[in-house]
Amino acid sequence: MKAIAVTPGEPNSVHLTELPMPQLENVPDGRGVLVKVLKVGVDATDREINDALYGNAPPGFDFLVLGHEMFGKVQAVGENVKHVKPGDFVTCTVRRPGKSIYDRIGRSDITSEETYYERGINLLHGYLTEYIVEDLEFVVKMPVGLKHLHVLAEPMSCAAKAIQQAFEAQKRLQVWEPKIAFVMGAGQIGLLATLILRLRGLEVFTLARTQPPCLKAEIAEGMDAKYVSTTDQSIQELAKQVGKPDIIVEATGSSQVAFEAMQVLGLNGVLVWTSITGGKKRTEIPSDSVNLDWVLGNKLLIGSVNANFRHFESGIADLALGEVTYPNVIDRILTNPVEGLDSYTEMMRLLVEDKNALKVYVNVAEE
Ligand code: BGC
Ligand code: ZN
Repeated sequence: MKAIAVTPGEPNSVHLTELPMPQLENVPDGRGVLVKVLKVGVDATDREINDALYGNAPPGFDFLVLGHEMFGKVQAVGENVKHVKPGDFVTCTVRRPGKSIYDRIGRSDITSEETYYERGINLLHGYLTEYIVEDLEFVVKMPVGLKHLHVLAEPMSCAAKAIQQAFEAQKRLQVWEPKIAFVMGAGQIGLLATLILRLRGLEVFTLARTQPPCLKAEIAEGMDAKYVSTTDQSIQELAKQVGKPDIIVEATGSSQVAFEAMQVLGLNGVLVWTSITGGKKRTEIPSDSVNLDWVLGNKLLIGSVNANFRHFESGIADLALGEVTYPNVIDRILTNPVEGLDSYTEMMRLLVEDKNALKVYVNVAEE
């Protein structure tokens, strides 16, 4: 089987390689699911891995097969698999459990072990190949009516987790009625977070550098959010104009913006950081005033990464609700398909160079 891989530690090493065809029996106890890979999305994490800023090969390999946003069709299942059947569309979770208490209760997304295992990212091969076999625990069914949203299931799961964590944590306040949300960044996570917050009834301001008219603005506005270009108006100015937000979801990929966001959060507010920043940037912050505001304002900062089976399920449920609430908006995120695993150079080029590419994905095979 063909697969798209990188050599971790070597910048710009994306290449085609070979993997053996996986067997259903690779997973013991009749728990295996054999999936034909149809589509795989790539994101900033893949770009950082190809830049050798992030990611590691599985033990015994000098390459890492990329791809953690998978959409595929079930080909065969072991005798103990009941929740999916051949012909079903599925996606898969990314992280695999280690040994901590969280890993053992199905919450590897909050593992307390330093070493984490993620398909296509860290120590495990990913999905940019032709077939995969997985344990039933990691295979999530996609409703057939959402098959046109395919690779968005994984990023949606991360957005769903981030927002759920914020709502969970805000139970500390006994009563919390968030009204205003700022979403920093209008990439896939920013737009999907915008969707979830709109579906919860918040007034959402989605901020990104690009000036409208642009696709990002159209998508955000298609979800009845307000798009604000930070080239036109700073986050501070916006907060002065519309009020300080009760929740901020940061998804720009910039650690500088992550810290800037601390300066506008409202009283009792929650800030969720989701950007993966593998670089070494440094930034100056007004630490005294931030510290003072945060203490006097009882504010909360949460880092959120990855997503478990339940977050995938709730993310998929929100995709369904989003699709009927704002018809034909979500799929506009899926901007840039490339054809076949052989197109790996084009895949990486779009990911690195095309600033208008909201979502690059590989059409690996037809159904
Ligand atoms: C993936 C997550 C993963 C994170 C950190 C993201 O791009 O979508 O599943 O946990 O990177 O590696
Ligand atoms: Zn990702």
